Amino acid sequence: MYQDLKGKVAVITGGSKGIGQAIALRLAKEDMNLVFNYNSDAKGAERAVEKIRNNGGNAVAVHADVSEEADVKKLLDTAVTNFGQLDLWINNAGMENQVPTHKMSLADWKKVLNVNLTGTFLGSKSALNYFLDHKVKGNIINMSSVHEQIPWPTFAHYAASKGGSKLFTETIALEYAKRGIRVNAIAPGAINTPINAKKFKDPKQLKDTTDLIPMNRIGKPSEVAAAAAWLASSESSYVTGETIFIDGGMTLYPSFEEGKG
Ligand code: NAD
Repeated sequence: MYQDLKGKVAVITGGSKGIGQAIALRLAKEDMNLVFNYNSDAKGAERAVEKIRNNGGNAVAVHADVSEEADVKKLLDTAVTNFGQLDLWINNAGMENQVPTHKMSLADWKKVLNVNLTGTFLGSKSALNYFLDHKVKGNIINMSSVHEQIPWPTFAHYAASKGGSKLFTETIALEYAKRGIRVNAIAPGAINTPINAKKFKDPKQLKDTTDLIPMNRIGKPSEVAAAAAWLASSESSYVTGETIFIDGGMTLYPSFEEGKG
């Protein structure tokens, strides 16, 4: 438990499932008040709110598309109306789809960039304005990916969005450090969430993935959530502009294992 998180207020985008939901459950255990959006699954979001309330936490779910500025403002307004303040904003919502780059439609490209990168910009902008207006030494966490570093053929729009997110995180961390606002990123490797459900059900695809991971297993959403809780807390008070990789060693060039190369 991080005592300083008790009673604080967080917005978590994409908090109704996967990594976002694991973060919501973890922050609820830290006695935080939470607002998260859902994109299409209203019932799933209500179930997530109930789970949090059953764990003693407090949460409100709102329909919002992170690529729409008015929807993002609605998330902030919901936090302030229900809980009176904002302390933490987590840009977690994201999407991917596989398509060779020469066949990628402009619509495909725009969709992924709009959700993953523009959504991160809009969420950060909204949080920064609140923090500056209210002189809050707030905290922003952006959900990146190992693909901010590892190229990923047939997912060029996804890799471009996460590479963009890396420099966006570093830039605003520098821009607002003097105001006491911290901005960091988390880069998960392969985590067991709905985004990967189909892939990990197929034994061959599962093995292809675990072969890329020195620790030889898929990560759990709770392992990503643990990093988010630490970054949110004052235990990480001297950390800004960093990306924490939660990837079982995936970014350690496993092809060089045992002295190969
Ligand atoms: P997921 O598909 O389980 O959840 C994605 C969430 O984003 C959902 O709640 C969805 O509703 C929300 N979302 C999608 N489009 C949205 C939109 N336009 N507006 C609002 N919300 C929207 O995926 P996940 O695995 O939990 O991924 C969460 C984040 O972690 C993403 O940014 C993803 O890129 C990143 N990530 C995941 C993995 C992994 O292996 N699971 C690895 C690296 C990075």
